[in-house]
Amino acid sequence: MRRVFGSFDLLAAHHARNLLQTEGIGALLKNEILSSGAGEIPPAECQIEVWVLDDDDAVRAEFLLRAGTALARTAAAWRCGGCGESLDPQFTQCWQCGQLRAA
Ligand SMILES: [Zn+2]
Repeated sequence: MRRVFGSFDLLAAHHARNLLQTEGIGALLKNEILSSGAGEIPPAECQIEVWVLDDDDAVRAEFLLRAGTALARTAAAWRCGGCGESLDPQFTQCWQCGQLRAA
C-alpha cells in the first residue's frame, strides 16, 4: 500500500478515493475517524489519507489526482471577455453575446 493523497478536508479525501475507484484503482481512506479529533491530536496526524492498495498503481493514482484537481480548479464560474456576463462553468460560450470561453 502507498499513500497518494492527504487532506484535512474529508470531502476532498472522499472525492480523491472515488476518483481512483472510478478508474479501477483500489484505494482506501485512513484516519477518517481520527479527523474528528482535530485539536486533541497534532494536526499532521489528523490528515485524512488516501492509500492505494497496489503500489504499482501509485504513479497513475497521483497523476489522476493532479489532473482531477486541475479540472476542479477550472470548473469555476467565468466572466465573458466580450460583454462581462457571468457564466456557469458548464457553458463554453456566452449566451449573451456568443463569445467563446477563453482557454
Ligand atoms: Zn458575452
